[in-house]
Amino acid sequence: MRLILLPLLLLIISGCASPGKPNTESQPVKFAARPKNIILLIGDGMALSQASAGIYWIGVGKTSFERFPVVGFHKSHSSNDLVTDSAAGATAFSCGQKTTNGTIGMLQPGNRPCRTILEDLDSIGFATGMVVTCSAPHATPASFIAHREIRAFTEDIALDYLKTNLDCFIGGGEHYFNDRPDHLNLEDSLKKNGYVIRRGTSLRGLPLDGSAPFMLFTADREPPTASADRHYLPVATRAVCEYLQKRSDKGFFLMVEGSQIDWACHANDRNWLRAELTDFDKTIKQALDFAASNGETLVIVTGDHECGGLALTEGQSRREFKPVFAARLHTAALVPVYAYGPLAERFSGIYDNTEIYSKMWSTLGIR
Ligand code: MG
Ligand code: ZN
Repeated sequence: MRLILLPLLLLIISGCASPGKPNTESQPVKFAARPKNIILLIGDGMALSQASAGIYWIGVGKTSFERFPVVGFHKSHSSNDLVTDSAAGATAFSCGQKTTNGTIGMLQPGNRPCRTILEDLDSIGFATGMVVTCSAPHATPASFIAHREIRAFTEDIALDYLKTNLDCFIGGGEHYFNDRPDHLNLEDSLKKNGYVIRRGTSLRGLPLDGSAPFMLFTADREPPTASADRHYLPVATRAVCEYLQKRSDKGFFLMVEGSQIDWACHANDRNWLRAELTDFDKTIKQALDFAASNGETLVIVTGDHECGGLALTEGQSRREFKPVFAARLHTAALVPVYAYGPLAERFSGIYDNTEIYSKMWSTLGIR
């Protein structure tokens, strides 16, 4: 009898949490003084209106967004444009410097490569990984491991994957590695470097015990949309957190991207956007649950820029809204930054997108 009553009682107590408290978790988490691990989740094209739409579509009080105790805003502009693109946007996060639109992991003028936080943490023994819903050479993941003057140099960007010690990659774009105009087989080279290469979306057969680095190609080109049966991002994110933990005692850096939120907004497609936001929210949940389970993981969720000029206008009834897009391209709106974990409070305020980089370093206390 007691066994049945206890969980019931806990449910009742947690359901009575005071309304001002963030919906973080039922048990308070004791955080370490500093984070050991960082999970940076980027919703491409996701600013305040996209997150708002996600909250209303998924259900008020039910989303992962509402679990964050700290929110800030970043100014997303690039070095040459108030409206950034994803290459300059991600390079601001990865290198901590503003660059020109279209540039991957380089500063302009002069095509000066900048070291990324992923590369630097790797060089001091951190495990590193990326899980995305675009292809490997696409601008956002590329900006963490590649250094190219133009984002469209996708064949060259794929080559840069061979220059890193990335512990794992999950995402699309296999043809950039095994079906190239230069006839190089990058998969063979990766295998020689000890990588396990798999294709598909099943995690079975991956060295998740931490015994080897791996790349899982979820598509030959771009992965399908979340509205077309793509489900791997949440489960892969959680599995990779646990895998990276086994790869290094020092800690890990994981970049996760909901890549297609941006594409749905470019297409002004509300159903696609809804599916992508729902998928990304589930992915954030996995990261937060992992972080809550160990208290030594900093979770940061942000977007690189707004896309589509999304407005939530009055709907058919008073209980629904009508999404209206004012643009087909990106806009200059400020982008929210959600933080959870040790020293998360450093991410409050309004600051440049480049400060995401410096704040991540400052929380680690390494520099
Ligand atoms: Mg992207
Ligand atoms: Zn875009």
